Amino acid sequence: MIEAQYYSKLADKKVHCRLCPHDCLIRPGKAGICFVRYNQEGELRALSYGRVSGIYLDPIEKKPLYFFHPGSTILSVGGIGCNLGCPFCQNWQIAQPRDLIKGGIIPADKPAGIVERLTEPLSVEQLVKLAEDHRDRGSIGVAFTYNEPFIWFEYVLEASRALKARGLKTVLVTNGYVHEAPLRELLPFIDAMNIDVKGFSDDFYRRLGGRLGPVLRTAELANGACHVEITNLLITGLNTDPAQIEGLVDWIAGTLGPETPLHLSRYFPARSFKATPTSLADLETAQRIAAARLSSVILGNV
Ligand code: SF4
Repeated sequence: MIEAQYYSKLADKKVHCRLCPHDCLIRPGKAGICFVRYNQEGELRALSYGRVSGIYLDPIEKKPLYFFHPGSTILSVGGIGCNLGCPFCQNWQIAQPRDLIKGGIIPADKPAGIVERLTEPLSVEQLVKLAEDHRDRGSIGVAFTYNEPFIWFEYVLEASRALKARGLKTVLVTNGYVHEAPLRELLPFIDAMNIDVKGFSDDFYRRLGGRLGPVLRTAELANGACHVEITNLLITGLNTDPAQIEGLVDWIAGTLGPETPLHLSRYFPARSFKATPTSLADLETAQRIAAARLSSVILGNV
């Protein structure tokens, strides 16, 4: 458990985490919203540094990245926790440890104990060795995915530096909810990102416990630094309003460029969200709107 970057010490051993736009003020013995940044006696600790919840060799198209080394595979690793609280999260078993405690699936414990219970240790050196060992299976490098990689900042930064130094590719699959300073520090070591823009309104983001603006800013900065593809998970009645889709598409075309790939992904019930899966009619309407301005629109989960 190493000391975290991007935080300030305050009076009474409180800390201010400056990694993401939540700007959590954390009292001693407590974790931030993401669960994995913990105030230990007035120092912020990165609980998930070097801890991995899952590791698989995936086709690059599964990230989804369709225009970045198509046909290759990539070693995909996940950590634990998330800084958004999407009620329809598909990976809530690793992204939302508090759900597991509330549901009685794991016993209540301190965050460090829970992180240990749900993950295995994997050093940066071991990760790089694994990535090199998988080159002969078509793997181009490592994708940080399955949960939110930015809250795993110190590990992702150190690993990405080491991977790049060995000629391996690095990918982030992210919600984009991060402050500019850490993003700028990490970007030189990242080759591609899939950024999940969950809806094109602050109203929608409020339901997830975030704001739209920082996500768009992340996409804008990343677009100048690495390959970027955007995902939008569509949920009938929540974010399928044509005006909202037009807003997103116009923003992508105008800010990132009309050649930016957009993945329109179909929602299926998950976590606490039980609404029926997104209708095919809504997906097709969104695809038609998007295709009028963007050159690559891909339907996912259909
Ligand atoms: S990274 Fe975690 S602790 Fe830090 S501000 Fe974001 S949610 Fe809070």
